[in-house]
Amino acid sequence: MSKKLWETAPHLALRAGANFDLAGLDRSSTPGFDGDKDDGKDRMEERAELLNELQERLFAAGKHGAKESVLLVIQGLDTAGKGGIVRHVMGMVDPQGVAMASFGVPTKEELSHHYLWRVRRELPEPGKIGVFDRSHYEDVLVARVDELVEEDVWRKRYDEINRFEKKIVDSGTTIIKVALMCSKEEQAGRILERIERPDKRWKHNPGDLDTRAKWDDYQEAYQDVFRLTSTDYAPWYVVPADKKWYSRVAVTELLTQALIDIDPQWPKPRWHVDVQKRRLFETVDPDIVDELEQAVAEQVADAEDDHGDYLKTKEEVAELAHVDDGDRAPTVEESEEDEALSNVRTMAAASTGVGKGAKDQDKDNKSKKSKKDKKSKKSKKDKKSKKKKGKGAKN
Ligand code: AMP
Ligand code: MG
Repeated sequence: MSKKLWETAPHLALRAGANFDLAGLDRSSTPGFDGDKDDGKDRMEERAELLNELQERLFAAGKHGAKESVLLVIQGLDTAGKGGIVRHVMGMVDPQGVAMASFGVPTKEELSHHYLWRVRRELPEPGKIGVFDRSHYEDVLVARVDELVEEDVWRKRYDEINRFEKKIVDSGTTIIKVALMCSKEEQAGRILERIERPDKRWKHNPGDLDTRAKWDDYQEAYQDVFRLTSTDYAPWYVVPADKKWYSRVAVTELLTQALIDIDPQWPKPRWHVDVQKRRLFETVDPDIVDELEQAVAEQVADAEDDHGDYLKTKEEVAELAHVDDGDRAPTVEESEEDEALSNVRTMAAASTGVGKGAKDQDKDNKSKKSKKDKKSKKSKKDKKSKKKKGKGAKN
């Protein structure tokens, strides 16, 4: 068993509840993680294989009719490390399974449509991991700070975005929203580096200094984003980003966890093994059939070993995530529930030490149970249907 490192799983440590206070965030902190830079890097390397298999399973399932996909939304001010997440986290998986989209200043055509038009067009297909480098949130960030639209226009967008994301989630997409938050001093250092280093100058945009000059307005706009759009179905994870290694390992873990929750299964073949083998061997010199079968048997054995490792690592990560989330902050919906219920909740929390409503807890128990059932059935099934998986499948 590898070192635990995450004392609190990042989806609990980083989740923005309705009372989340951005001003109080220590941007050089490493919430939930009990380790240093080397540990962070090691953990990312350790996750590569698991993440790869999960992604390949998602992709394979998507090709065979499963509707699940993942959408990773990355927000953050200039130099926060959005590009680094794409390179270091998404770089670990097969690019065929990743659908990248960057959202910059809207084109003339984009401007002629509703602001969600360009976003809708980039939503991941089943089986894909969509990655948004900036997103529809710019329409309540830069659009608000730079007064690109009237206040009554951007004010309405928070609810609209929530409804939009609800539909996406209902259609089978898991949305992971990460906001990389670095400190103002750290940003100064990073901008200076871009200005001074010949190999970084291409990244510098003089306009970034105008954006920086509006730092406080942006913080306020981000605070509202977290307050108003961190829903149960699409919560925000606010990631301190002064330490790049931390934001990368945190997003790696969030993504891994989301894929484990989806638990994508290898599709069942729509053909019969025996029939296919017979037909294949009809085309093969009979003298080499034995040799062929032997070679493949070794690969099948290797794949079975790999599969054992996969299940073990997956279990480790899943275990870490299912710690009691009783003291996480309430979500937008929860905070909107009436006073009476929240009083009951607080009292229940005081007496049991668990801050959840009975309803939530019941839901949780159910989903845990069904997941368990699924898992025990699944591992048997997987062992049977495990087919050849090339050793070199990674990358
Ligand atoms: P970069 O991510 O460095 O390529 O910069 C993209 C720029 O596009 C940033 O300055 C964003 O604020 C800007 N941008 C993204 N979306 C919008 C939008 N909806 N309206 C106006 N500007 C936007
Ligand atoms: Mg930029």
